[in-house]
Amino acid sequence: MNKSKLNATVTKITEVSPGLSIFRVAPEGWDLSNFIAGQFVVLGLPGSAPRHPVSDPDEETPDPEKLIRRSYSIASSSLEKKYMEFYVTHVRSGEFTPRLFALKEGDPIFLSSKGAGVFHVNEAPDDVNLLLLATGTGLAPHISVIRSIFMCGSERKFAIIHGAAHSWDLGYRDELETLSAKCPDFSYLPTISRPQQENNHWQGETGYVQDIWNSGLVTKAWGFEPTPEDTHVFLCGNPGMVEGMIETLIKDGFKEHSRKNPGQIHSEKWW
Ligand SMILES: Cc1cc2nc3c(=O)[nH]c(=O)nc-3n(C[C@H](O)[C@H](O)[C@H](O)COP(=O)(O)OP(=O)(O)OC[C@H]3O[C@@H](n4cnc5c(N)ncnc54)[C@H](O)[C@@H]3O)c2cc1C
Repeated sequence: MNKSKLNATVTKITEVSPGLSIFRVAPEGWDLSNFIAGQFVVLGLPGSAPRHPVSDPDEETPDPEKLIRRSYSIASSSLEKKYMEFYVTHVRSGEFTPRLFALKEGDPIFLSSKGAGVFHVNEAPDDVNLLLLATGTGLAPHISVIRSIFMCGSERKFAIIHGAAHSWDLGYRDELETLSAKCPDFSYLPTISRPQQENNHWQGETGYVQDIWNSGLVTKAWGFEPTPEDTHVFLCGNPGMVEGMIETLIKDGFKEHSRKNPGQIHSEKWW
């Protein structure tokens, strides 16, 4: 493996909970390109990179010389020029993430140079309210949106509904709680689907992301009901949530967005 292909360094790893971590990656000797909040890049590691011990063995031995590449949504601000941040789930049977989770701070990695994809904030008019819905690490592009364009005290309303299995899997919770405590125009609505497994009594919402939308909590938080005329919705994460929410939103009058046929529902499925 030509090590020069590994053009970046993992500079910081923050474990959110077992199997869920935030990675900061900085370019080595080159500058990060501009990207639009919501876009993704590619991370890569060679087949020869060791797997994390708490992973299943490789199904087939990969080519040790070849880069295993996977797409990751950027969680950092588009204004941040020194590093990119990624919020990643360890898929124990996977090819790439067992290698990523075996890395330590200071280890080399491949980082593609350009942001890609049309699941980004510039696809929505800049005066509409933004409703950002996610399960698990699907939160990553929304974190970038908030860090890049949200300004406390703006005319627009922003809300994040984040669904996870447990409270300890709610990555970025402190940052989002602080923002929502400070800013009346930002609402953070986390929900957990397995409250019975919590030792300390969870005081927040329970159920799925769809339940939070259907319960009218966004209307309560914003003081008005979001409509297709004033709100765009971004959906990212578990395909079941994304498909379920698209169905519900269409019934509520929202329309799926494409460049040819603009609408208010933007979605990204990862698998
Ligand atoms: C545009 C885009 C952006 C993405 N951004 C992110 C991101 O920010 N964070 C992230 O964790 N993943 C993200 N992914 C998924 C990522 O590219 C990999 O598919 C994932 O990390 C698994 O890689 P792997 O090689 O370990 O598993 P593989 O050997 O590729 O196995 C893939 C299988 O893993 C499961 N899987 C994939 N992603 C997840 C996940 N997040 N949670 C649970 N199960 C999963 C699915 O069953 C899938 O079929 C993104 C994918 C796309 C297409």
